[in-house]
Amino acid sequence: CGVIGYIGERATPEFFYNGLKRLEYRGYDSAGIAMMNSDGVFIQRAEGKLVNLQKKLELLPKSTKIGIGHTRWATHGKPTELNAHPHRSENMILLHNGIIENYKPLKEFLLNKGYKFHSETDTEVAAHLLNYEFKQNLNIQNPLERMKKSIFSLVSQIRGAFAFGILCTDVPDTLFVVKYGSPVVLGIGENENYMASGITALVDHTRQIIIMEDKEIAYLTSKDISIVDFEGKPVKRDPISISWST
Ligand code: GLU
Repeated sequence: CGVIGYIGERATPEFFYNGLKRLEYRGYDSAGIAMMNSDGVFIQRAEGKLVNLQKKLELLPKSTKIGIGHTRWATHGKPTELNAHPHRSENMILLHNGIIENYKPLKEFLLNKGYKFHSETDTEVAAHLLNYEFKQNLNIQNPLERMKKSIFSLVSQIRGAFAFGILCTDVPDTLFVVKYGSPVVLGIGENENYMASGITALVDHTRQIIIMEDKEIAYLTSKDISIVDFEGKPVKRDPISISWST
């Protein structure tokens, strides 16, 4: 429902929390944050109001270079902590706005491949499928290229509406963003970049915004943003300057 992501020098638990709070008007039933550093991936999730997640912020690292946050409006599976995003499949940490319509046959496929599901969500299918595709692409040595190829495979198999924010432990210096049907904006900062489901989450941090269009994938590093379409063709889009304040 609400999504925020960051890559740069310094993301704090409060940054994600406050961004999600800004998006609160969309309504939600649970929330979660994932932050990643060289010690690993730290995920905290909570059912109900954001204040329940606030109590857990101290369990997250004080600051990392990359992270994502989500407020969920349940479509598949009850509003519980286990169903809250982000969802993890080994090296993949993923959050999702929208609905994966064909999740049932994909779940069947993944169960047959031995994947264990920890939630009832349609979203967890995307996390596992991405992990599965990453394993299929063993021949690609470079982890970034391997991840790019895996995301193309993922989006070619899923139908519905999806905005994804994705962390991959094999590519810790890149935040992956996918947009189809659900809104996503990117924010440009100084040695830092952002993604969110709405501009309001970012206006405290940057006024330079790129509005993603459907069938686009963005690769964010602290230094730059590049966008391609689902066929891999580079997309050139100038940022817009936001002048309003909240
Ligand atoms: N369909 C997903 C779920 O139920 C995402 C819902 C949302 O957009 O928050 O977990």
